[in-house]
Amino acid sequence: MKNLVVITGASSGIGEELAKQMNAQGHPLLLLARRVEKLEALGLSNTLCMKVDVTDKEAFQNAINTATDKYGPVDLLVNNAGLMLLGQVDVQSAAEWKAMYDVNVLGLLNGMQSVLPSMKQRNTGTIINISSVAGRKTFGDHAAYCGTKFAVHAISENVREEVANNNVRVITIAPGAVETELLSHTTSSDIVSGYESWKKEMGGVLAPIDVSNAISYAYNQPQNVCIREIVLAPTKQQ
Ligand code: NDP
Repeated sequence: MKNLVVITGASSGIGEELAKQMNAQGHPLLLLARRVEKLEALGLSNTLCMKVDVTDKEAFQNAINTATDKYGPVDLLVNNAGLMLLGQVDVQSAAEWKAMYDVNVLGLLNGMQSVLPSMKQRNTGTIINISSVAGRKTFGDHAAYCGTKFAVHAISENVREEVANNNVRVITIAPGAVETELLSHTTSSDIVSGYESWKKEMGGVLAPIDVSNAISYAYNQPQNVCIREIVLAPTKQQ
């Protein structure tokens, strides 16, 4: 059997697709999300599904410990769980800003800290952080979300430098628009309909499998090759 892969936010979208792909490649999996019933409904073999909110550091660490007892050390952690609440800063609630920073930034730090000591000690391992094109350039109504994703890029590159000597890879994957549940949590119907029109004007967006293929490509390079960053987007996206 291959090495253990951990995926956060595997209950829908990109994470769900990646779980299926990594399972087909023969990896035992630890899948984390709040909607554990959606993880279990995937029906994947050699897979531990755990209801974990990534903002809960202790629960995250406990889940990693349970999975490593069962399947051995984590070889790949994909910090994919994310929340996008679009809004203009003059009207958006502070609760929405906090929710995004808690999940997209602190949740990702929780994940890295849960696996890095063992990876450094074993002198191998890979962390893949899912950022966004919104972590490379700004978009209207995205101020707080862009802030979280610019942070993901900065944190990932900083940690990559910290652990390079330990033979641990830190990779950032930055997708453009992908068809998933992500937009559905935005509360402004005007912003949602504007975003939907933008997607139509582009003639469609990426599918989750396009992103999961990029993650798989980066991971499946030999350990001495670190693809530091992949930015992928619909060809017609500006
Ligand atoms: P989805 O909304 O389909 O998936 C988001 C996942 O994150 C869900 O499985 C959700 O699970 C999980 N999640 C959210 N909050 C938490 C939490 N507190 N604890 C644990 N899990 C959580 O969206 P995508 O698949 O599109 O998003 C995946 C990643 O891709 C995100 O980081 C997103 O920012 C990024 N991305 C997406 C793009 C797009 O256009 N779709 C573009 C660029 C980047 P549950 O609710 O069950 O907890």
